[in-house]
Amino acid sequence: MNNKFYVTTAIPYVNSKPHIGFALELIQSDVIARYHRIIGKDTYFLTGSDENSLKNVQAAEKEGISTQELCDKHSQSFMELKDVLDISNDDFIRTTDKKHFKGAQKLWLACRPDDIYKKKYKGFYCVGCECFYPEKDLVDGMCPEHKTKPDVIEEENYFFKLSEYQQKLKTLIEKDDIKIIPEHRKNEVLSFIGQGLEDFSISRSKERAKDWGVPIPGDKEQVMYVWFDALSNYITALDYADDGELFKKFWPADVHMIGKGILRFHAVYWPAMLMSAGLPLPKSIFVHGYITVEGQKISKSLGNVIDPVALVDEFGIDAVRYFLLREISPTHDGDFSRERFIKRYNADLANDLGNLASRVANMIEKFFDGELPEVEVENEYDLEKINTLIEEFKFNEALEYVWKLISTANSFVEEEKPWELAAIKNMDKLAKVLTKLKITCLDVSLALEPFLPSTSVAIKKHFSQKTITSIEPLFPRIQ
Ligand SMILES: [Zn+2]
Repeated sequence: MNNKFYVTTAIPYVNSKPHIGFALELIQSDVIARYHRIIGKDTYFLTGSDENSLKNVQAAEKEGISTQELCDKHSQSFMELKDVLDISNDDFIRTTDKKHFKGAQKLWLACRPDDIYKKKYKGFYCVGCECFYPEKDLVDGMCPEHKTKPDVIEEENYFFKLSEYQQKLKTLIEKDDIKIIPEHRKNEVLSFIGQGLEDFSISRSKERAKDWGVPIPGDKEQVMYVWFDALSNYITALDYADDGELFKKFWPADVHMIGKGILRFHAVYWPAMLMSAGLPLPKSIFVHGYITVEGQKISKSLGNVIDPVALVDEFGIDAVRYFLLREISPTHDGDFSRERFIKRYNADLANDLGNLASRVANMIEKFFDGELPEVEVENEYDLEKINTLIEEFKFNEALEYVWKLISTANSFVEEEKPWELAAIKNMDKLAKVLTKLKITCLDVSLALEPFLPSTSVAIKKHFSQKTITSIEPLFPRIQ
């Protein structure tokens, strides 16, 4: 049995600070990584930053600093998300790292010589997307993603013979050899392939790139197109350049976690590049939607960018993780609203979960001085179901299921009225009721381990003690 698991996030541009959408991707990926570690898979979890982009050059010019300084500064705030959001990534690849340059160049050279050729080209380039658009894909002459006017670029570039891979890619995706989740994204890719794949430019002139990027092996005039080098991060981080142990062990990726805007790069360009280089293909690609804020698209000009750091400062890590995993659909667009955040926090975390833990702990302390006698109770909860939901990336449904257990336990307290059992001194029954509730708390802790790591640990620690005392509120109510 193959016992390894390799999960990656996309690597964001570092031209601005991390926003809530990337926090969602990191947290979703973290759940996947933690889950696979829990079930005993040797897991590797990679994230990083995409630094060879023209966007970074432009952002640095604006700030009046060098591109390297800009990258150093901003990649730092992405790296810090590890602590901010309690992310368990094993590595953070920066595409300005030496091993990345070396690996990207190795990949270039490994591609079939016939697949890379030079050609004069004129096209519409959106710097925001870092890609060329055929005229037919523009909406009223604007980039469909950014609604900005693309630059008209004319130069001689290297091209990748994507057209050569059209049929192979179609079959791979149809047969789920590269499984695209959810299904509607798979159909989107198939329809994109069905329209016919055109060869794409994989380099730009050093001049246009402002001398920033991975140099093309054997050509001093050109640097790699940022997507060509960026996609290779998934192998360069594993030390593909030197055929390292990590690469041998973990490649191919079990899942690339990405946002919907960069699907074709991952489902079309990247597998074609790998096939050309004779390398194994990723097994699946999971695609999440975008987050709007109070019903509006996130944009700097609207001033509605949600800073995950500020959110965590205000509400705590696990509250932010919970909201994003529970309230935002894993695969469709979702909305962040402060009002709903607070509502969820108070209803689900402070009331349902917090109350259960605190009333159970209080009653054990009060009625048994913290030490329950040993009694047999049956455990009827099916935690396997949560595993299945995680494997299907249905994070919201998995949490919904956990909360069903929690509310069943809360109703059980109301039905059994342990305080009345105590009043009539029915200590046998009382011990059974409280033991059952204690086990539920431990089950909930187990179920929450990949989702809310520190809450899970706090519950487990508390209810595994020999003497159980009352517990500090896990989530103090927000007024
Ligand atoms: Zn664009």
